[in-house]
Amino acid sequence: MAYPRRVQELIEDFTRLPGIGPRQAARFVYALLAKDESFLASFAGHLGSLKTETMLCRSCFRITEQRPDQTCEICSASSRNTDKILVVEKDTDVENFEKSGVFSGVYHVLGGSISTLEKNSAEKLHMRELFERVKSLAAKNEQVEIIIATSNNLEGNQTATYIERILEPLTVSVTRLGRGLSTGSEIEYADPMTLEQALQNRK
Ligand SMILES: [Zn+2]
Repeated sequence: MAYPRRVQELIEDFTRLPGIGPRQAARFVYALLAKDESFLASFAGHLGSLKTETMLCRSCFRITEQRPDQTCEICSASSRNTDKILVVEKDTDVENFEKSGVFSGVYHVLGGSISTLEKNSAEKLHMRELFERVKSLAAKNEQVEIIIATSNNLEGNQTATYIERILEPLTVSVTRLGRGLSTGSEIEYADPMTLEQALQNRK
């Protein structure tokens, strides 16, 4: 059975999102078809302005509201300890740490992890920016601590090792989240207690 052309196109769009197969995508498209025009117009508007109305924080590379100083509300808050940088893979990891309220430093969002399959995948991440950021911070402060909070899976561990290597020439303390995060677990889904323990047991 062939879908109508526009339906097929939208199904293909949805399947480009993580975790969405053709069947789930078709379900989305038919659910959209059941909505009224005004919802669809508003949905299309949100999609259309998603990129133009957000930006990357120039300090931590989180996706944030458009702000004149191009710095997110976490990086610009005076209450945050800017000498402690928690390095995470993605924005949703930051959201989870923020929700748990266990960390008062600032973040650095890599934009993914080092893939075992893809060559040079480290180049697509904000690694160079991390190095430069830590370097300039270390030049004016002796108590810089970098906490690597990548996921406890193959890619996450590879990424952590890579970060340790590039930061080695800089005289800063580099730690990794400790026990608490079970093997294969992702930061994004960890509960507050697990995050707190993993932070406390960093080494
Ligand atoms: Zn920021």
